[in-house]
Amino acid sequence: MCYDVVIIGAGPAGLTAGIYARSKMMSTLILDSGRVGGQLVSLYPEKGIHNYPGFETIQARKLSDKLYAQAESMECVIKENEKVEDIENGDQELIVTTAKGRYHAKSVVVAIGMGSFKPKKMGCPGEDELFGKGVTYLLPAKEELVGKKVTMFGGGNSAIDMALVADSVTDTTIVHRRADFRADEGTVKELENSGVRTIMSANLVSINGTDKVESVTLSQDGKEIVVPTDLAVINIGISADLEDLKRWNLELTDDGLVKVGFDMSTSRPGIFACGDAVSYPGKFKQITTACGEATTAILMAHKFVKKPYWA
Ligand SMILES: Cc1cc2nc3c(=O)[nH]c(=O)nc-3n(C[C@H](O)[C@H](O)[C@H](O)COP(=O)(O)OP(=O)(O)OC[C@H]3O[C@@H](n4cnc5c(N)ncnc54)[C@H](O)[C@@H]3O)c2cc1C
Repeated sequence: MCYDVVIIGAGPAGLTAGIYARSKMMSTLILDSGRVGGQLVSLYPEKGIHNYPGFETIQARKLSDKLYAQAESMECVIKENEKVEDIENGDQELIVTTAKGRYHAKSVVVAIGMGSFKPKKMGCPGEDELFGKGVTYLLPAKEELVGKKVTMFGGGNSAIDMALVADSVTDTTIVHRRADFRADEGTVKELENSGVRTIMSANLVSINGTDKVESVTLSQDGKEIVVPTDLAVINIGISADLEDLKRWNLELTDDGLVKVGFDMSTSRPGIFACGDAVSYPGKFKQITTACGEATTAILMAHKFVKKPYWA
């Protein structure tokens, strides 16, 4: 079978592309190297999203579930745990290869977000040894936090948002190495009005414990402070791994992202791109922008594949 479109990545961009493709009756395959949902489920499932239209607030995991359910109900074929390795040119078609198969496509939409991203590490003693025993890079579900002392590390929106989630059910401290947070003013205000304890201008020296985390040692103004902790949540950023894009022979910008035209076309005919994986002047990495770009990418893919007389 030759799909009208193969979409690489099942984050908000890929799922929106799938929904739009099916509304145009395009046969659609979506491949994701991990789980459906992208960053929403991999990085911040518990966080409330306040800027997705139609929902005053929606938990990231639930927004992902809704996008997934809509894409499935519109009969997108969705395959998880299939990392795309290559996109070859065939005879008037593209061939998308994974370790499990070769998929023929009339067009391709690249929506791989930050690629195979990894959370950044603190690099202190105890971090690796106690990983999974109280050291985590992802806030567990709220129910698992009850009765635990949570210490969050980070100073951006994400760290504060997670600290606020934890604070709604348990004793929570946030530690930042600078004197000011680098988050939105509204988020910082919310933190100030919450019960979260803040420790500023402090560095993490070590995470302590034998079988599980018991405390963390910080240094502040030349003194050491020990903070009793059950869960050390490290939220200091993400390292993107966009090596796949180089292999796919797409023209990239200086920051290693896909260079797209205003119509989301790439340097390869029939391949369009959208979401966090693309860059252009005025680009913002947000869910709504990813969805908007996905709409354009698919409508252009539709034009490329179906060549309607009116387009
Ligand atoms: C902590 C944090 C909080 C955020 N909060 C908000 C917010 O409140 N509001 C907002 O609008 N935005 C927020 N964002 C930004 C938002 O999450 C992103 O802009 C959005 O997820 C981009 O969607 P995407 O589909 O382009 O990429 P992603 O969500 O990254 O999805 C890409 C998918 O592609 C898959 N993939 C990667 N490589 C391959 C491959 N080779 N083959 C197959 N699949 C592959 C990945 O597994 C992933 O599932 C936040 C981001 C972070 C990090």
